Amino acid sequence: MRRIALIDYGKLELQNITDGIKKLQQGTVKVAVKACSICGSDIALYRGQRSLKDEKYFGHEFSGIVTDAGSEANGIKVGMRVASELCRTCGQCWNCLNGLKNYCKSMNDALLPGGFCEETLVLNTSEYSFLSPIPDTLDFETASLLEPTNCAFRIAHQANITPGANIVIFGLGAMGIISALILKSLGAGKVVGVDRSIKRLEKLRTLSLIDTVDGNNADWLEQVQEMTSSKGADIVIEATGATAVLGDAFKAVRPGGRIVVASVYHAPAGDLTLLPIMRKELTIVGAKGPYPHINSAGKSIPVQIMAKLHSDLQKLVSVYDYKDALHAFEDAMSGTAIKAVIRFN
Ligand SMILES: [Zn+2]
Ligand SMILES: [Zn+2]
Repeated sequence: MRRIALIDYGKLELQNITDGIKKLQQGTVKVAVKACSICGSDIALYRGQRSLKDEKYFGHEFSGIVTDAGSEANGIKVGMRVASELCRTCGQCWNCLNGLKNYCKSMNDALLPGGFCEETLVLNTSEYSFLSPIPDTLDFETASLLEPTNCAFRIAHQANITPGANIVIFGLGAMGIISALILKSLGAGKVVGVDRSIKRLEKLRTLSLIDTVDGNNADWLEQVQEMTSSKGADIVIEATGATAVLGDAFKAVRPGGRIVVASVYHAPAGDLTLLPIMRKELTIVGAKGPYPHINSAGKSIPVQIMAKLHSDLQKLVSVYDYKDALHAFEDAMSGTAIKAVIRFN
Protein backbone atom coordinates (compact mmCIF):
# COMPACT_ATOMS: atom_id res chain seq x y z
CA MET A 1 0.00 0.00 0.00
CA ARG A 2 1.65 3.20 -1.19
CA ARG A 3 1.74 6.17 1.09
CA ILE A 4 3.18 9.70 1.12
CA ALA A 5 4.44 10.30 4.64
CA LEU A 6 5.64 13.55 6.18
CA ILE A 7 8.44 12.19 8.34
CA ASP A 8 9.72 15.61 9.42
CA TYR A 9 9.21 19.27 8.45
CA GLY A 10 10.06 19.62 4.76
CA LYS A 11 10.68 15.87 4.42
CA LEU A 12 8.31 13.74 2.41
CA GLU A 13 8.87 10.03 2.01
CA LEU A 14 7.23 7.62 -0.41
CA GLN A 15 6.56 4.50 1.60
CA ASN A 16 5.21 1.09 0.81
CA ILE A 17 3.37 -0.35 3.77
CA THR A 18 2.77 -4.08 3.64
CA ASP A 19 0.32 -4.48 6.51
CA GLY A 20 -2.93 -3.09 5.16
CA ILE A 21 -5.90 -2.13 7.25
CA LYS A 22 -7.91 -5.21 8.14
CA LYS A 23 -10.50 -4.96 10.86
CA LEU A 24 -13.14 -2.27 10.73
CA GLN A 25 -14.73 -0.68 13.77
CA GLN A 26 -18.41 0.17 13.88
CA GLY A 27 -19.15 3.24 11.78
CA THR A 28 -15.80 3.07 10.04
CA VAL A 29 -15.39 3.04 6.29
CA LYS A 30 -12.39 2.00 4.21
CA VAL A 31 -11.72 4.09 1.12
CA ALA A 32 -9.45 3.24 -1.82
CA VAL A 33 -8.10 6.74 -2.40
CA LYS A 34 -8.01 7.79 -6.06
CA ALA A 35 -6.95 11.41 -5.63
CA CYS A 36 -5.90 13.69 -2.78
CA SER A 37 -5.36 17.42 -3.16
CA ILE A 38 -2.85 19.51 -1.24
CA CYS A 39 -4.43 21.94 1.21
CA GLY A 40 -2.86 25.11 2.59
CA SER A 41 -2.92 23.40 5.98
CA ASP A 42 -0.83 20.50 4.59
CA ILE A 43 1.70 23.08 3.38
CA ALA A 44 1.67 24.77 6.81
CA LEU A 45 2.48 21.37 8.31
CA TYR A 46 5.22 20.74 5.74
CA ARG A 47 6.75 24.14 6.49
CA GLY A 48 6.58 23.67 10.25
CA GLN A 49 3.98 26.42 10.78
CA ARG A 50 1.81 23.78 12.43
CA SER A 51 3.04 21.12 14.81
CA LEU A 52 3.39 17.60 13.43
CA LYS A 53 2.98 16.20 16.93
CA ASP A 54 -0.70 17.18 17.07
CA GLU A 55 -1.60 15.58 13.75
CA LYS A 56 -2.60 11.96 13.44
CA TYR A 57 -3.52 12.06 9.75
CA PHE A 58 -1.96 13.51 6.59
CA GLY A 59 -4.15 14.61 3.69
CA HIS A 60 -7.81 15.37 4.20
CA GLU A 61 -9.03 16.42 0.72
CA PHE A 62 -9.56 13.13 -1.05
CA SER A 63 -11.90 11.13 -3.20
CA GLY A 64 -12.15 7.42 -3.90
CA ILE A 65 -14.23 4.28 -3.79
CA VAL A 66 -15.54 2.62 -0.63
CA THR A 67 -14.03 -0.86 -0.40
CA ASP A 68 -15.33 -1.85 3.01
CA ALA A 69 -17.86 -0.45 5.45
CA GLY A 70 -18.53 -1.42 9.03
CA SER A 71 -22.09 -1.40 10.36
CA GLU A 72 -23.80 1.92 11.03
CA ALA A 73 -21.77 3.86 8.48
CA ASN A 74 -24.58 6.35 7.94
CA GLY A 75 -25.65 5.14 4.50
CA ILE A 76 -22.14 4.78 3.05
CA LYS A 77 -21.84 1.41 1.30
CA VAL A 78 -19.20 -0.65 -0.51
CA GLY A 79 -18.68 0.48 -4.12
CA MET A 80 -19.85 4.06 -3.57
CA ARG A 81 -17.86 6.90 -5.12
CA VAL A 82 -17.20 9.36 -2.32
CA ALA A 83 -15.23 12.47 -1.40
CA SER A 84 -14.23 13.79 1.99
CA GLU A 85 -16.32 16.73 3.13
CA LEU A 86 -15.33 16.49 6.79
CA CYS A 87 -18.54 17.86 8.25
CA ARG A 88 -19.60 16.79 11.64
CA THR A 89 -22.71 17.50 13.59
CA CYS A 90 -24.09 15.54 16.51
CA GLY A 91 -27.13 17.78 16.61
CA GLN A 92 -27.08 17.70 20.40
CA CYS A 93 -24.09 19.58 21.78
CA TRP A 94 -24.32 23.29 22.60
CA ASN A 95 -22.44 24.25 19.41
CA CYS A 96 -24.80 22.25 17.20
CA LEU A 97 -27.88 23.62 18.95
CA ASN A 98 -26.63 27.18 18.51
CA GLY A 99 -25.81 27.19 14.80
CA LEU A 100 -22.09 26.50 15.29
CA LYS A 101 -21.98 23.05 13.73
CA ASN A 102 -18.48 23.71 12.44
CA TYR A 103 -17.31 23.59 16.07
CA CYS A 104 -18.94 20.28 16.96
CA LYS A 105 -16.05 17.83 17.01
CA SER A 106 -12.47 17.39 15.93
CA MET A 107 -11.61 15.07 13.08
CA ASN A 108 -8.23 14.13 14.51
CA ASP A 109 -9.49 10.70 15.55
CA ALA A 110 -11.67 10.21 12.52
CA LEU A 111 -9.15 9.84 9.72
CA LEU A 112 -6.31 7.34 9.58
CA PRO A 113 -3.75 7.57 8.05
CA GLY A 114 -5.36 10.20 5.77
CA GLY A 115 -5.77 10.80 2.06
CA PHE A 116 -2.10 10.74 1.09
CA CYS A 117 -2.31 6.97 1.24
CA GLU A 118 -3.82 4.46 -1.18
CA GLU A 119 -6.14 3.28 1.54
CA THR A 120 -7.55 5.17 4.48
CA LEU A 121 -10.05 4.64 7.24
CA VAL A 122 -12.71 7.25 7.82
CA LEU A 123 -15.19 7.45 10.65
CA ASN A 124 -18.62 7.95 9.16
CA THR A 125 -21.47 7.73 11.63
CA SER A 126 -24.53 9.94 11.85
CA GLU A 127 -22.48 12.21 14.11
CA TYR A 128 -19.33 12.22 12.05
CA SER A 129 -20.52 12.38 8.48
CA PHE A 130 -17.14 12.94 6.91
CA LEU A 131 -17.81 11.36 3.52
CA SER A 132 -20.28 12.48 0.88
CA PRO A 133 -21.36 10.42 -2.12
CA ILE A 134 -20.44 12.06 -5.43
CA PRO A 135 -22.19 11.77 -8.80
CA ASP A 136 -20.66 9.66 -11.61
CA THR A 137 -20.20 12.81 -13.70
CA LEU A 138 -17.55 14.15 -11.29
CA ASP A 139 -14.02 12.92 -11.97
CA PHE A 140 -12.04 11.90 -8.88
CA GLU A 141 -9.38 14.63 -9.27
CA THR A 142 -11.96 17.45 -9.26
CA ALA A 143 -14.03 15.70 -6.59
CA SER A 144 -11.04 15.85 -4.23
CA LEU A 145 -11.85 19.58 -4.04
CA LEU A 146 -15.07 18.92 -2.13
CA GLU A 147 -13.77 20.02 1.28
CA PRO A 148 -12.28 23.31 -0.03
CA THR A 149 -15.51 23.85 -2.00
CA ASN A 150 -17.42 23.42 1.24
CA CYS A 151 -15.11 25.97 2.93
CA ALA A 152 -15.59 28.36 0.00
CA PHE A 153 -19.35 27.93 0.29
CA ARG A 154 -18.98 28.89 3.96
CA ILE A 155 -17.21 32.08 2.80
CA ALA A 156 -20.08 32.83 0.41
CA HIS A 157 -22.56 32.15 3.22
CA GLN A 158 -20.74 34.53 5.57
CA ALA A 159 -20.55 37.16 2.78
CA ASN A 160 -24.35 37.33 2.96
CA ILE A 161 -24.57 38.74 -0.56
CA THR A 162 -27.40 40.59 -2.17
CA PRO A 163 -27.69 40.19 -5.96
CA GLY A 164 -25.50 42.65 -7.82
CA ALA A 165 -23.05 43.22 -4.94
CA ASN A 166 -19.53 44.14 -6.05
CA ILE A 167 -16.89 41.92 -4.52
CA VAL A 168 -13.12 42.14 -4.20
CA ILE A 169 -11.19 39.01 -3.27
CA PHE A 170 -7.65 39.19 -1.91
CA GLY A 171 -5.69 35.96 -2.42
CA LEU A 172 -6.39 33.88 -5.50
CA GLY A 173 -5.45 30.47 -4.20
CA ALA A 174 -8.06 27.74 -4.45
CA MET A 175 -10.12 29.22 -1.62
CA GLY A 176 -10.28 32.69 -3.20
CA ILE A 177 -11.07 31.41 -6.68
CA ILE A 178 -13.67 28.85 -5.65
CA SER A 179 -15.47 31.41 -3.50
CA ALA A 180 -15.37 33.81 -6.49
CA LEU A 181 -17.01 31.15 -8.69
CA ILE A 182 -19.67 30.44 -6.06
CA LEU A 183 -20.39 34.14 -5.41
CA LYS A 184 -20.77 34.72 -9.16
CA SER A 185 -23.22 31.85 -9.40
CA LEU A 186 -25.18 33.39 -6.50
CA GLY A 187 -25.68 36.63 -8.42
CA ALA A 188 -22.72 38.82 -7.46
CA GLY A 189 -22.19 41.91 -9.64
CA LYS A 190 -18.55 42.51 -10.40
CA VAL A 191 -16.01 40.13 -8.84
CA VAL A 192 -12.37 41.21 -8.96
CA GLY A 193 -9.43 39.24 -7.56
CA VAL A 194 -6.18 40.77 -6.26
CA ASP A 195 -3.02 38.72 -5.89
CA ARG A 196 0.73 39.39 -5.80
CA SER A 197 2.02 36.11 -7.20
CA ILE A 198 3.02 36.79 -10.81
CA LYS A 199 2.97 33.05 -11.60
CA ARG A 200 -0.53 32.68 -10.28
CA LEU A 201 -1.81 35.81 -12.06
CA GLU A 202 -0.34 34.58 -15.36
CA LYS A 203 -2.01 31.22 -14.94
CA LEU A 204 -5.36 32.78 -14.02
CA ARG A 205 -5.30 35.03 -17.09
CA THR A 206 -5.13 31.96 -19.31
CA LEU A 207 -8.10 30.38 -17.48
CA SER A 208 -10.35 33.48 -17.76
CA LEU A 209 -12.38 32.58 -14.69
CA ILE A 210 -12.09 35.93 -12.90
CA ASP A 211 -10.91 39.50 -13.55
CA THR A 212 -7.61 40.08 -11.79
CA VAL A 213 -5.47 42.96 -10.56
CA ASP A 214 -1.76 42.68 -9.78
CA GLY A 215 -1.42 43.75 -6.14
CA ASN A 216 2.23 44.70 -6.74
CA ASN A 217 1.16 47.70 -8.81
CA ALA A 218 1.18 51.02 -6.94
CA ASP A 219 -2.24 51.85 -8.41
CA TRP A 220 -3.93 48.52 -7.56
CA LEU A 221 -6.63 50.29 -5.53
CA GLU A 222 -7.53 52.67 -8.39
CA GLN A 223 -7.69 49.70 -10.75
CA VAL A 224 -10.00 47.82 -8.39
CA GLN A 225 -12.22 50.88 -7.94
CA GLU A 226 -12.41 51.41 -11.68
CA MET A 227 -13.56 47.81 -12.13
CA THR A 228 -16.05 47.81 -9.25
CA SER A 229 -17.18 51.15 -7.83
CA SER A 230 -15.41 54.33 -6.76
CA LYS A 231 -17.28 54.04 -3.43
CA GLY A 232 -15.47 50.78 -2.77
CA ALA A 233 -16.52 47.14 -2.76
CA ASP A 234 -19.70 46.04 -1.00
CA ILE A 235 -17.94 42.88 0.14
CA VAL A 236 -14.25 42.05 0.50
CA ILE A 237 -12.96 38.52 0.98
CA GLU A 238 -9.52 38.26 2.61
CA ALA A 239 -8.01 34.89 1.73
CA THR A 240 -4.28 35.54 1.53
CA GLY A 241 -3.20 34.44 5.01
CA ALA A 242 -1.12 37.64 5.34
CA THR A 243 -2.32 39.90 8.15
CA ALA A 244 -1.06 43.08 6.41
CA VAL A 245 -3.57 42.49 3.60
CA LEU A 246 -6.38 43.14 6.05
CA GLY A 247 -5.21 46.78 5.81
CA ASP A 248 -5.71 46.59 2.02
CA ALA A 249 -9.17 45.16 2.64
CA PHE A 250 -10.00 48.23 4.78
CA LYS A 251 -9.03 50.43 1.81
CA ALA A 252 -10.96 48.45 -0.81
CA VAL A 253 -14.25 48.14 1.09
CA ARG A 254 -16.93 50.85 0.96
CA PRO A 255 -18.30 52.56 4.08
CA GLY A 256 -20.77 50.19 5.70
CA GLY A 257 -19.26 47.27 3.79
CA ARG A 258 -18.47 43.78 4.90
CA ILE A 259 -15.15 41.96 5.16
CA VAL A 260 -15.05 38.17 5.32
CA VAL A 261 -11.83 36.85 6.83
CA ALA A 262 -11.15 33.40 5.41
CA SER A 263 -7.42 33.42 6.17
CA VAL A 264 -5.56 31.24 8.60
CA TYR A 265 -3.18 33.81 10.07
CA HIS A 266 0.06 32.40 11.43
CA ALA A 267 1.54 35.78 12.46
CA PRO A 268 0.35 38.70 14.61
CA ALA A 269 -1.03 41.78 12.88
CA GLY A 270 1.99 44.01 13.60
CA ASP A 271 1.29 47.71 13.07
CA LEU A 272 -2.01 47.26 11.24
CA THR A 273 -4.17 50.39 11.61
CA LEU A 274 -7.63 49.48 12.87
CA LEU A 275 -9.28 52.91 12.75
CA PRO A 276 -11.22 52.14 9.50
CA ILE A 277 -13.35 49.61 11.42
CA MET A 278 -14.99 52.52 13.24
CA ARG A 279 -14.63 55.22 10.58
CA LYS A 280 -16.20 53.09 7.87
CA GLU A 281 -18.63 51.25 10.17
CA LEU A 282 -17.35 47.94 8.89
CA THR A 283 -18.78 44.50 9.53
CA ILE A 284 -15.99 41.95 9.83
CA VAL A 285 -16.87 38.26 9.97
CA GLY A 286 -14.84 35.07 9.93
CA ALA A 287 -15.55 32.00 7.78
CA LYS A 288 -14.40 28.68 9.17
CA GLY A 289 -15.33 25.70 7.08
CA PRO A 290 -16.16 22.99 6.59
CA TYR A 291 -19.74 23.36 7.70
CA PRO A 292 -22.56 20.83 7.20
CA HIS A 293 -24.55 22.68 4.54
CA ILE A 294 -27.39 20.25 3.86
CA ASN A 295 -30.51 20.79 1.75
CA SER A 296 -34.03 19.76 2.78
CA ALA A 297 -33.52 16.33 1.15
CA GLY A 298 -30.49 15.73 3.39
CA LYS A 299 -27.99 16.10 0.51
CA SER A 300 -24.75 18.06 0.59
CA ILE A 301 -25.15 21.47 -1.06
CA PRO A 302 -21.39 21.76 -1.84
CA VAL A 303 -21.59 18.48 -3.84
CA GLN A 304 -24.38 20.01 -5.93
CA ILE A 305 -22.35 23.18 -6.38
CA MET A 306 -19.39 21.11 -7.56
CA ALA A 307 -21.54 19.37 -10.13
CA LYS A 308 -22.77 22.75 -11.37
CA LEU A 309 -19.30 24.37 -11.49
CA HIS A 310 -17.54 21.20 -12.61
CA SER A 311 -15.84 22.51 -15.77
CA ASP A 312 -14.56 25.66 -14.00
CA LEU A 313 -13.29 23.72 -10.98
CA GLN A 314 -11.58 21.23 -13.29
CA LYS A 315 -9.48 24.09 -14.68
CA LEU A 316 -8.00 24.75 -11.21
CA VAL A 317 -6.62 21.25 -10.89
CA SER A 318 -3.05 20.20 -11.75
CA VAL A 319 -2.70 16.42 -11.51
CA TYR A 320 0.50 14.69 -10.33
CA ASP A 321 1.29 11.03 -10.12
CA TYR A 322 1.99 9.57 -6.67
CA LYS A 323 5.72 9.32 -7.54
CA ASP A 324 5.82 13.10 -8.15
CA ALA A 325 4.43 14.05 -4.73
CA LEU A 326 7.42 16.26 -3.91
CA HIS A 327 7.00 18.11 -7.20
CA ALA A 328 3.31 18.56 -6.40
CA PHE A 329 4.14 20.12 -3.02
CA GLU A 330 6.73 22.42 -4.60
CA ASP A 331 4.25 23.61 -7.23
CA ALA A 332 1.55 24.11 -4.61
CA MET A 333 3.94 26.25 -2.52
CA SER A 334 5.25 28.33 -5.44
CA GLY A 335 1.78 29.04 -6.82
CA THR A 336 2.53 27.25 -10.11
CA ALA A 337 -0.40 24.97 -9.33
CA ILE A 338 -3.60 26.54 -7.99
CA LYS A 339 -4.70 23.17 -6.73
CA ALA A 340 -2.16 20.36 -6.86
CA VAL A 341 -3.86 16.98 -6.80
CA ILE A 342 -1.97 13.74 -6.29
CA ARG A 343 -3.39 10.70 -8.05
CA PHE A 344 -3.01 7.08 -7.02
CA ASN A 345 -3.33 4.93 -10.12
ZN1 LIG B 1 -8.37 21.56 3.33
ZN1 LIG C 1 -22.44 18.70 18.10
